Amino acid sequence: ENDKTSGSRTIAATHPLALAPVASPPATVDGFVREFLLNLNMERGVALSSATETDTYMALAATVRDYLVARWLEDQRRQREDQRKAVCYLSAEYLLGRQLDNNLLASGLTEIATEALAACGIDIDTMRAHEVEPGLGNGGLGRLAACFVDSLATLSVPSIGYGIRYEYGIFRQVFRGGEQIEKPDAWLALGSPWEFRHPESAQTVSFAGHTETYDDDGVIRSRWVPAWSVRAVPYNYMVPGYQNGRVNTLRLWSAEATKAFDLRTFNSGDYVEAVRAQTFAENISKVLYPEDSTPQGKELRLQQQYFFVAASIADYMTKVLPEDFDLEDLPERVIFQLNDTHPVIAVPEMMRVLVDERKLDWDAAWAITQKCFAYTCHTLLPEALEVWSVDLLGRLLPRHLEIIYRINDEFLLRVRERFGDDEQRLRDMSIVSEQRAVRMAYLATVAGSKVNGVAELHSQLLRERVLHQFDEMMPEKFTNVTNGVTPRRFMRLANPDLSELITAALGTGWLTDLERLRELESYAEDPDFRAAFASVKAANKRRLNDVLMKRDGFEIADDHLLDVMVKRLHEYKRQTLKLLHIVTLYERVVSGRVAASDLQPRTFIFGAKAAPGYAMAKRVIHLINAVGSVVNNDPRLEGRLKVVFPPNYNVTLAERVIPAADLSEQISLAGKEASGTGNMKFALNGALTIGTDDGANVEIRELVGDDNFFLFGMSEPEVEELWAAGYRPGEFAQADDELRRALDLIGSGAFSDGDRSTFEPVVSNLMYDDRFMVLADYTSYIAAQERVDAAYADRDAWTRSAILNVARTGFFSSDRSIRDYIDRIWHTQPAR
Ligand code: PLP
Repeated sequence: ENDKTSGSRTIAATHPLALAPVASPPATVDGFVREFLLNLNMERGVALSSATETDTYMALAATVRDYLVARWLEDQRRQREDQRKAVCYLSAEYLLGRQLDNNLLASGLTEIATEALAACGIDIDTMRAHEVEPGLGNGGLGRLAACFVDSLATLSVPSIGYGIRYEYGIFRQVFRGGEQIEKPDAWLALGSPWEFRHPESAQTVSFAGHTETYDDDGVIRSRWVPAWSVRAVPYNYMVPGYQNGRVNTLRLWSAEATKAFDLRTFNSGDYVEAVRAQTFAENISKVLYPEDSTPQGKELRLQQQYFFVAASIADYMTKVLPEDFDLEDLPERVIFQLNDTHPVIAVPEMMRVLVDERKLDWDAAWAITQKCFAYTCHTLLPEALEVWSVDLLGRLLPRHLEIIYRINDEFLLRVRERFGDDEQRLRDMSIVSEQRAVRMAYLATVAGSKVNGVAELHSQLLRERVLHQFDEMMPEKFTNVTNGVTPRRFMRLANPDLSELITAALGTGWLTDLERLRELESYAEDPDFRAAFASVKAANKRRLNDVLMKRDGFEIADDHLLDVMVKRLHEYKRQTLKLLHIVTLYERVVSGRVAASDLQPRTFIFGAKAAPGYAMAKRVIHLINAVGSVVNNDPRLEGRLKVVFPPNYNVTLAERVIPAADLSEQISLAGKEASGTGNMKFALNGALTIGTDDGANVEIRELVGDDNFFLFGMSEPEVEELWAAGYRPGEFAQADDELRRALDLIGSGAFSDGDRSTFEPVVSNLMYDDRFMVLADYTSYIAAQERVDAAYADRDAWTRSAILNVARTGFFSSDRSIRDYIDRIWHTQPAR
């Protein structure tokens, strides 16, 4: 859609070869070998005999690309012709994971490629392992965006994903002395073979300066006179649908200086000063903020947000839309979906474009804008609701601040019309707070056609608590779309043996119609199927063992229950509750109250990154490692408990860990986790969940049934009640002897060579503050873990439950989420 026909291109385009659709290479082993060798020779400039692993990987990726390009170009052409309503998904994060295997699967080339490479003496697994995953996201939110672009393509929804091409993604985590050290993630060091850079389609994005009014043929208008600008250069990635021939586009923006350097300064010998502007501009897309759940109030982050949405809107308005397009019809042509508040500055940007540049009157522009945006909220934590100070916004985006003020003035007039002069309500609902901060979630709610939460409970709490007054005023805006995950990556690719078993039972087709997993229910009653299912799980454990042995030297014993908690380290997710369980089991044995031989052997796997500035989270990481090194080496436990914490949890590791798990830990305090998506991946891969009634756990439990889920802890109303009554965590420690012993053991320095101070902050935080009520839920959690042990003792019954988890969680396909977005929010049609 980038091509505006220029004179010379018109002539070239009439050449018969240019008119014919580009042909894909023949989908045969020979065809693949030929294309691969051609790429090796022509693109890498090497012969097979002298090719390095990087050469062969790059040539392989280029070959897969060659098979996809024809479809991609064709889909773009059709979209231009058909002009169907499209979705622009605006997300500051895409946690994509490795691309090679997914693109091979989507294009149906896996077997051909495997054979072709073997014919060239190359093992495809080596190629898979060679890829560095693009970690352009922090956790659930970014991974959700990646699942959604997969489903959008698989459902042939005309759509573009827009985001930022961070030069450095989420940091690489290493442990030193058990503590987290952050290393830069130089994922682009060798270049990415999956992207197409298009400098000629760059957009200019401006910042700062001032605004002024001017007389435009008798009409007084405002305009922005910016102080500086950068170039936003698009990099296009192909997003193939699953074996449907559809290829969508993901367009990620990279910041570059408008001019490389100041030649006069350069010639005068001041090289550093000459390239200063370049460095400054390129900083904008240099690095992903490693925050999860809390906004980092940094100017650079606001620059990043505006940078990518301004470029995306300009791209859509000037390159995708036809030149003569009647803007009144824009809502029939496009919907911009805002993935959390990070892209919400797109709202005043669209108003600026429509009013200042396209010269629409304000009311018409606002009517259009309101229909063209929809907002997905991802949190319930008040501290995670993003705000920007009026001062910063005024400095960086002065025209946008004016527009926000006007949007707010008109909104507050409507509030007054509806509710009268209720000054408290006006203060509460104002987009600009009394602390002179712009509440981005409020702006999104006022501007968006719809506001959705990401699980039933979350959407309900949004309406009742976080955005209660907005719900009173405009209830029709609020809806729910429960998150989902792509079964292509997280079942078919991550768990090939289970996928094969399912296909053997149900035939093909279930990967794009995941509710069909229901048909597995009857197989749960078949002893042969249960045996086959159990051996798949055992094989997955061995595969994980091989990966971890090679990666970190960790061993996973075959006969251990695999108990897994992998997700960002955050107090509300309560990794400390999991730790207290482990310490309790350990303390029971070392105090002689329980014989080691009476323990159900368990391996606890943790995976978690902490935001670098989040001191408590980092201390908990240290404590997990410290408990691990004591527990793993104490002979009194006879090897029956093991704590394994592989560093650098990412998508690649998730794909290995999740299929091997027996037990999925989803233990956030009720009312704090918006949805979770890790929880869905575990259930779909046949792990049983131990969890609170929180986020999408609620829906998982409803679907799989109480018998196949280990529920514990307070419900959300009980949490509220306890808070209201005054929560004193110390009382819970007093009431439970084992809890006190576990806390005392940590506090005594048992896991820190006798040094009491190392983990004292963790213990006193729990004893005297405990915002996330770990101690209040401890007793119930330990009791639920005992139910787990008892259930696991009957392995065959456990397997039956695991099969029922798979059979009953097809609802959590991201295809279903996307269909819900279409029905409830977007109202788009699939592409022809
Ligand atoms: N990080 C990675 C690598 C993931 O794959 C996922 C989700 O599946 C998450 C984080 C989010 O996990 P959770 O939903 O448990 O917070």
